[in-house]
Amino acid sequence: MKKRYRILTLCILLIACNANVANLRPHGSQTGVPELTRNNYLIGFLNEYRSSYDVSYYDINIDFDIEEKSIDGFVTIKAKSLHNIDSLQVDLAKNLNITKITHQNSSVEYSREEDAVMVIFNQTIDKDTLFDFTVHYNGIPQSADNPPWAGGFTWSKDKNDRDWIAVSCEGEGARIWWPNKDHITEEPDSVRMAFTVPSDLVSVGNGQLRSIVDKEDNKTTYEWFVNNPINNYNISVQIGNYVAVQDTFIKGNTTHHMNHYVLDYNEEVAKNYFPQSKEVIRFYEKYFGEYQWWDDGYKLIEVPYLGMEHQSAVTYGNGFSIYNGVRSSSWAMYGVIDPLIIHETGHEWFGNSVTAVDPTHIWIHEGLQVYSEALYFEDKFNNYPVSIDYLKSIKSRIQNKIPIVGPEDQNYWALNGDTYMKGAWVMHTLRSAINDDPIWFAILKEFMVENAKGHVSTEDFFNKVEEKTEIDYSYFSEQYFYTPNQPELEYYQTDSRFYYRWNNVNDNFIMPMDLLVNGMEKRVFPNEQFQSFYIKEHSIIEVMDWKFYVKSKKVGK
Ligand SMILES: [Zn+2]
Repeated sequence: MKKRYRILTLCILLIACNANVANLRPHGSQTGVPELTRNNYLIGFLNEYRSSYDVSYYDINIDFDIEEKSIDGFVTIKAKSLHNIDSLQVDLAKNLNITKITHQNSSVEYSREEDAVMVIFNQTIDKDTLFDFTVHYNGIPQSADNPPWAGGFTWSKDKNDRDWIAVSCEGEGARIWWPNKDHITEEPDSVRMAFTVPSDLVSVGNGQLRSIVDKEDNKTTYEWFVNNPINNYNISVQIGNYVAVQDTFIKGNTTHHMNHYVLDYNEEVAKNYFPQSKEVIRFYEKYFGEYQWWDDGYKLIEVPYLGMEHQSAVTYGNGFSIYNGVRSSSWAMYGVIDPLIIHETGHEWFGNSVTAVDPTHIWIHEGLQVYSEALYFEDKFNNYPVSIDYLKSIKSRIQNKIPIVGPEDQNYWALNGDTYMKGAWVMHTLRSAINDDPIWFAILKEFMVENAKGHVSTEDFFNKVEEKTEIDYSYFSEQYFYTPNQPELEYYQTDSRFYYRWNNVNDNFIMPMDLLVNGMEKRVFPNEQFQSFYIKEHSIIEVMDWKFYVKSKKVGK
């Protein structure tokens, strides 16, 4: 009890401190950023009971009761102690029951608050010790209201009225179905998954299939293994009448194997439709570095929801239709690529390999991902204006209500605001501001290659930008990521002069801007005071707002 009391005191102090930090963040209304709840505090912050250990391995064992929509399992967590440990925090949704927690074959005590479980060991675990403990649990995990955005389990039926089940939990956290240290920076080095399901169904997880073992009661255990660091929310299970569709990816002298899983009646269409994923992988390797997970393979898995970037096990639910799929109809991609396949496969780079250090920086997953799609079309058609056309097609979804980056340490998954579309437009704008494509593409590739399998922040990205350009772009990141305000280029012209200035910007905002003066490109360097240049009478001047995320605003003198 004494230990528990200490934790609570510490947490309260930190909440107070955190609130101050939040108030000091630059500019912008916080409308839309959720209040810091006790649970988000416990999950979002790496307190001493979480930072004291580093997870190396999860061994996940789950038996599914599909009729009851319930799970029964145990997870062994292997970790290294970074301090002397008497107790530690592990995370499991509060609606799931813990039956026991064991360490060295003995039960240990634990207490629970919200989704945090405090494990109290019988003796101190010394610093730098490899240790493990096992959590036994069961219950009915959260169902998904609107997967993948509001995640959980989707308990569904296929066209032949057979069970078809999948989980998605980005944002909700993997703790909704198995115990883990549920912080985005904590990736194990490897994971074993043993999913036990009725024998008439197949269970598909991430990585490689190691074994299929028949059990009692007409059940079968599928054992999957991931041999790489992986985000907790990427670990997934899919259960259905699956068949494998094999393909190969040839690179130089190496042949990699792809094993997609689709419902048996979709085998033929998948054989013809899924090879487009190879073109996607080649594109990402060209611009953003090697695919990181070949030893775990690459597969698409058909699911009863839109899809998700589960590492080495990308889920797909767009209906095998390049124009009329669930997403294709609203997110057209010129009929050259399935939007779900490119978007979720691209996340193998943005998100799965290079992961945000805090979910508030998740534009690094989503904004860069959407931007990379614009580059895909630019590359595919060898035509820069196509990328602009694509970006213009998504521009109207930008809201400018809350900053792209919000508070840290609050389990704030900035997935609802302008993370996707504005994030992409901001990258396009930065390319235009830098105005040197070899440098721009080197920034992107080096950032991805140097941080492969790592964690990064918005600041890390701009450090790379500064390193390559030798220009400090903090004015740019402060404006576009930490305020919701879209810069306005105010302008007017007289018979002999064109006047321009920035409005709706931070004081330090000094982004250059390109104009077309009678069809000739001209770069200007506005600030918040009107500047002007000479023009001929009846000149036609256009603000190039298709290259920059700015609002061009004609004003009176
Ligand atoms: Zn995404």
